[in-house]
Amino acid sequence: MSEPLVIVGNGMAAARLVDELAKVALGRYAIAVIGEEPRLAYNRVLLSSVLAGETTSQDIELRPASWWSERGVTLKYGCRATAIDVGRRELKVAGGERIPFSKLVLTTGSSALRLNVPGADIAGVHTFRDSRDVDLLLALASRKQRVVVVGGGLLGLEAAYGLAKAGSPVTLIHLMDRLMERQLDAPAAALLKSLVERKGIEILLGANTARIVGETRVEGVELADGRRIDAEAVIFAAGIRPNTALAMEAGIAVNRGIVVDDHLQTDAADIFAIGECAEHRGICYGLVEPAYEQGRVLARYLSGREASYAGSTVATNLKVSGVSVFSAGDFMGGEGSEAIVLTDINRGTYKKLVITNGRLIGAVLIGDVGDALWYLELIRTRQPTQRIRADMMFGRSLALRSEAA
Ligand SMILES: Cc1cc2nc3c(=O)[nH]c(=O)nc-3n(C[C@H](O)[C@H](O)[C@H](O)COP(=O)(O)OP(=O)(O)OC[C@H]3O[C@@H](n4cnc5c(N)ncnc54)[C@H](O)[C@@H]3O)c2cc1C
Repeated sequence: MSEPLVIVGNGMAAARLVDELAKVALGRYAIAVIGEEPRLAYNRVLLSSVLAGETTSQDIELRPASWWSERGVTLKYGCRATAIDVGRRELKVAGGERIPFSKLVLTTGSSALRLNVPGADIAGVHTFRDSRDVDLLLALASRKQRVVVVGGGLLGLEAAYGLAKAGSPVTLIHLMDRLMERQLDAPAAALLKSLVERKGIEILLGANTARIVGETRVEGVELADGRRIDAEAVIFAAGIRPNTALAMEAGIAVNRGIVVDDHLQTDAADIFAIGECAEHRGICYGLVEPAYEQGRVLARYLSGREASYAGSTVATNLKVSGVSVFSAGDFMGGEGSEAIVLTDINRGTYKKLVITNGRLIGAVLIGDVGDALWYLELIRTRQPTQRIRADMMFGRSLALRSEAA
């Protein structure tokens, strides 16, 4: 008889795990997926495209209902898991039902952080995490409401771009002195800023949110230096927090995320965690690729094969507000490293490759990202690059041609 395997969360990590399990352990488990959002799993990354009007909410579904049923998966969506009884191996869900499991996988993702400032909970303050948020933001934009987006990372830029494209006047405020400071060095961030500003978005750096102005509804944002920006809505896009409450209340070890070992197992036997809710070797990844790698490893492990997860080399390769951006590895460099840089501001291009001991260790690209995956492979495989160094900046085909010559 198939063992009951229950997955909590119906997001991107859950969908990938089911996909991988179907490949390597078909029939071994009777899988049930419990998801709070009232719809089939969708590609959360593409919420930005939905907001920008480039695709529709229906078109971002990861798999049709038939795909899940063909794999024998019991899907309960619109259903929140409320407690784990570790000793009895039961999951409790809203409404009181208890679902027995032999293996449990937590894929509860993250929630958007709301800044702890006065006014943060009044009407007109929103976040950008799920498809309900996008519906709300699209409604704001259709009324051409003035919006302040708090946060100049990927999410803030995407929210600002989508809202501006949909017709809202947008001001983006960011605490740091440059955009996407975790992915970009100063010249790349400055170029990105000017390219985004060309799309009609006002950007204020070094801007510390002191409070949201308004009695019952948002009227604006006041900064710590006294400046005030009038607006009818505020979007918080200043970070995420892993959803760990379910694990914590069950007595499972939690740090920032749910702590897992190299088998993605928590400190409770047969209870695993992957995706944004998990913390592996001290790292909570906020990106989809590590979640997919973890799903692949966990499926193999659950199929009885040898498999372990050693962490992911994080790369950012995406369109931010319509601008192609790639960043990977140690893109700042340090003592003993050297950087090759090519800039063409008018064409909106910036390329930086960081080399240590004859190996590529990091890269940042703005505009022309055609060779991003090749650079990522060089970083991940730590190949010696002396023989291609002269042409490496100009892309894979030229560099490999001169290596062969
Ligand atoms: C707008 C946006 C753009 C993004 N762009 C990129 C990008 O370009 N590149 C990139 O790599 N990453 C991007 N990300 C991040 C990426 O979407 C996440 O890394 C990925 O979705 C993580 O997958 P997950 O399954 O861990 O979490 P999620 O996809 O968030 O899924 C978690 C699910 O668990 C459910 N859940 C939580 N608690 C419970 C409970 N108690 N009971 C039942 N269900 C529960 C949640 O409702 C949710 O549906 C973006 C995110 C957003 C919001």
